[in-house]
Amino acid sequence: MFNRQTTTFLKQRMEEAGIRPVSKFGQNFLIDLNLVNMIADSANITKQDVVVEVGTGTGSLTGLIAQKARQVITVEIDQNLWQLAQEELASFSNITFLQQDALRNKNNLSPVLLDTIRSEMAKTEGTRLKLVANLPYNIATPLITNLLTLDDITPTSMTVTIQKELAERIIARPGTKEFGALSLWIQAQCNPEIVRIMSPKVFWPRPKVESAIIHIETDFNKRGRIPDLPYYHRFVRNLFIHRRKLLRGVLVSIFKNQLTKQQIDNILEGINLTGNVRAEQLAVPVIFELCERFRQTQQSEN
Ligand code: SAM
Repeated sequence: MFNRQTTTFLKQRMEEAGIRPVSKFGQNFLIDLNLVNMIADSANITKQDVVVEVGTGTGSLTGLIAQKARQVITVEIDQNLWQLAQEELASFSNITFLQQDALRNKNNLSPVLLDTIRSEMAKTEGTRLKLVANLPYNIATPLITNLLTLDDITPTSMTVTIQKELAERIIARPGTKEFGALSLWIQAQCNPEIVRIMSPKVFWPRPKVESAIIHIETDFNKRGRIPDLPYYHRFVRNLFIHRRKLLRGVLVSIFKNQLTKQQIDNILEGINLTGNVRAEQLAVPVIFELCERFRQTQQSEN
């Protein structure tokens, strides 16, 4: 039954259903079964897991996940594919098919998706949440980012196919051009690793860019050390809006009308920073410490 992801199968099945891949939905189907298996295997799925998949497509990855997980919640924006995947996967009883945009907007996930996850998680104590997907590239960043803002349903891991360039930004080290707000947001609370780089050839239709399977394991100890996640999130995003500017100038403009230049200089001195560096040169723990000093200073002001 899992031959469903060869190019021949996909072409035939879509022709039968009278549909074609829609590029605005990022419909690039993975046609290498070994790689579909690699995504599912890298996610270490167990019967304790509720797995969310964004982008059901024709359901090949969905079926593999369903064999391993307690429950799969799969979301597909395209009504035709949503229909088709349900026909393909009719023999499974542990898949919830949602026909939805997985995002409500850039900063929020779909409320229906969130409600479905919450009610599924509440059924069994000790359930873990995982994201496993071959993601539509245009929503990969907001999806991964927003899932990590949720306190009650934090995923224990995310194993996804994304653009290679995005994967490189997620794992980037300080001092590189890829290092930025996304690297800091994810590395402060997770351990990300690239599992595999993939050529456009393994997709039908072929995308223009290379892709990567990335496994992002949440580190709950690290995450627990961030006292105010939304504050940290805003701080790192603001820090990189003008990435070529020197740190002191950036901080002065972020905290304009909130803190004096003297207060900002005191914070910098307090952690031995001159301010004549760029944020992209600082190590993750240093930025974390900097954020914390700002948070505490602002808290003591109120
Ligand atoms: N899982 C399939 C596979 O591995 O071949 C399909 C992956 S394809 C890269 C991405 C899928 O996400 C497409 O089926 C597309 O229609 C769907 N999609 C695109 N945007 C979406 C959105 N905002 N919410 C939910 N699904 C979306």
